[in-house]
Amino acid sequence: MSVKKVCVTGATGRTGAIVVKKLRQITNQFEVIGFARNEEKVKELFGSTDGFIIGNITDQSSLESALKGCDALVIVTSAIPKMKAPPKEGERPEFYFETGEIPEQVDWIGQKNQIDIAKNLGIKQIVLVGSMGGTNENHMLNKIGDGKILIWKRKAEEYLINSGIDYTIIRAGGLINEPGGKRELIVGKDDTLLNNPPQGIPTSIPREDVAEVVVQALQESKAKNKAFDLISKPEDGISITKDFSALFAQTTAGL
Ligand code: NAP
Repeated sequence: MSVKKVCVTGATGRTGAIVVKKLRQITNQFEVIGFARNEEKVKELFGSTDGFIIGNITDQSSLESALKGCDALVIVTSAIPKMKAPPKEGERPEFYFETGEIPEQVDWIGQKNQIDIAKNLGIKQIVLVGSMGGTNENHMLNKIGDGKILIWKRKAEEYLINSGIDYTIIRAGGLINEPGGKRELIVGKDDTLLNNPPQGIPTSIPREDVAEVVVQALQESKAKNKAFDLISKPEDGISITKDFSALFAQTTAGL
């Protein structure tokens, strides 16, 4: 089996960093290039900048250097809302996006840039981590900083589907920092898991499990040209998803 060269953007993010670490462990299958905008954060998380390209997804030339010679791209970038100030007692916190970092620029233009450059360079496969909730314009995440984040993310997902590159779009539920590999994962589509959640199952998933699904998507042919929602059952010590080919077989093509 030949080694697949994979670029992971958002590599210093909470899920992206786990993806990089997992792929780096499978040395006989993957060579990994991390793409991140903050050199200090790379050093903090990975010890050195070896195997990293520092740049911004709004900057074409740094993206081109990272993607050149890659077989696949994993997109885990996202606009990040900032809290205005700690909320007063009984009040909800208010959030905003910094100038230049609004979802339209990061989740639409930034993701479109990545897809366009990947296409120009002949990259064959893109795995993109997105979010559930995008079918509802009035979802509370769209209201944060009036950023319409899920709308822009969905627009980029549609663009990817129409790009002709093999895609896997993983729309995660609420991300939690719990250990992965301990739960049964559930896939869905069109926010049905959000709108009619199965009884007793929160619409969340550990970041480690999402990262594992990314790694599996790079390996399993049944993940190609699929878009799906993803949550996990609460840990019960019995049912754990191990057959990812069977999981991907339940998913479908198209937005
Ligand atoms: P995260 O920690 O917020 O990471 C986002 C990454 O994007 C960071 O590494 C950030 O860089 C990078 N980034 C942002 N703007 C950039 C730019 N202009 N150029 C280069 N890099 C840029 O991510 P996460 O919480 O693990 O979430 C992963 C994915 O799941 C995201 O798409 C998110 O929307 C989605 N999701 C999140 C939730 C949730 O509950 N949070 C739920 C469902 C889905 P820095 O490290 O330098 O900041």
